[in-house]
Amino acid sequence: MDNGIFEKAFRMLEKHPLCDHCLGRQFALLGHGIENSERGRVVKLALTLKAHALFLSKDKGGVKLLRVLATNGFSEIAKEILKKMRRKVPSKKFPKKCFLCENKFEILENIVKKAVEQLKDYEFNNFLVGIELPFSVEEREDEFKAEFEVDYGENMRNEFGRILGKKIAKESCKSVDHKKPDIVVLVNPFTETLRLQVNPLYVAGRYKKLVRDLPQSKWFCSNCRGKGCEQCNWTGKMYPESVEEIIAKPFLDETGGEKASFHASGREDIDARMLGKGRPFVIEVAKPKKRFLDLKKLEKSVNTYAHGKVEVSDLKFANKNVVRKLKKAETAQKEYLVLVEFEKKITAKDLRLLEKKLSNVMIKQRTPLRVLHRRADLTREKYIYEVKVKKLSPKKAEIYIRCQGGLYVKELVTGDEGRTVPSVSEILENRAEPLKLDVLNVIMSD
Ligand SMILES: [Zn+2]
Ligand SMILES: [Zn+2]
Repeated sequence: MDNGIFEKAFRMLEKHPLCDHCLGRQFALLGHGIENSERGRVVKLALTLKAHALFLSKDKGGVKLLRVLATNGFSEIAKEILKKMRRKVPSKKFPKKCFLCENKFEILENIVKKAVEQLKDYEFNNFLVGIELPFSVEEREDEFKAEFEVDYGENMRNEFGRILGKKIAKESCKSVDHKKPDIVVLVNPFTETLRLQVNPLYVAGRYKKLVRDLPQSKWFCSNCRGKGCEQCNWTGKMYPESVEEIIAKPFLDETGGEKASFHASGREDIDARMLGKGRPFVIEVAKPKKRFLDLKKLEKSVNTYAHGKVEVSDLKFANKNVVRKLKKAETAQKEYLVLVEFEKKITAKDLRLLEKKLSNVMIKQRTPLRVLHRRADLTREKYIYEVKVKKLSPKKAEIYIRCQGGLYVKELVTGDEGRTVPSVSEILENRAEPLKLDVLNVIMSD
């Protein structure tokens, strides 16, 4: 046997028992549209015919080759030929287990059955099979490939993954997706164990916060840090509820998920409302049992549950990238409306001055004193595009601000002891205090 792949295949079989899959896999890149088991079977068959021919021409190599095929090659045909020619057929102890896969390719049906059974608990569009192999198995294959200088081979992990993918797809009527599978079926063919890794479900939308004194996210009690104490009435929380919790509850009920994480593009202060079209958010549900949701219906459930405090709209299916985009968009333009009270009376001239000095201007803002305990002390520059002022009474005015996200609006009004420059107080030399703040809009291109 001196012709390339057949010679190599023979050397492999001479040294190790190999099943059709594992022999064929060493030549996986040769030929298209056939599985490795077919490759292995055909290579063994070709070798068997060659051996038979050698035997008939009285070449001693023939019997030797037939014995190798009958034992390490698990070939029934080779055994038959030996029997017919009245040669010693290798004992019943053969065939042994395949050196590389330990015959695990033969027990895949069991794994497929288990996988399909477990997948029944979930709604999903597509899946992917991930293979976990014992370290010793991978090492053994690597050494084998090095020993026989395998140039056209594939690794065992790939073959297990592909074959199981095809079988599970057929049984579950779902397709394999390599990029964004809903579920990853993690299989260890050697221990015959599997577990499902259910990928999160993402739903994007916008929320309005129609009331004040409602935090955006769950706010842990500062006294007990969430454990529950007398001060927080054993809730572990500073506020009984939050935008996050109000939205998450109906999502968890509907999907049967384990946990919901709330991502939003920036946040409003507890005492500020969020109006207009609402603030973009994404809710990420971990391990959802259901993902074929009627989002219109879900929107109604959330809004009913939220009871006029929060309102969601524009719900649509999203993905991880949308969360990333959301975080980046924190600096997107925002529109605010703030009700301001002045110490001294204001004039029409004052208001025009404010509009002029605060439109198209860069604000220098040091981290506000009120958040300094949890944020680094930095100076940020934020741009204001437009300011409009409306007088409501001799000492009260309503200020509309369209600015770069991240501007602290309350401090723009007060000046924060000189930490925000310029400010409403500073420009008019008249102490100004914000009474009410609303976010009107978060302008995000989607
Ligand atoms: Zn094998
Ligand atoms: Zn507490």
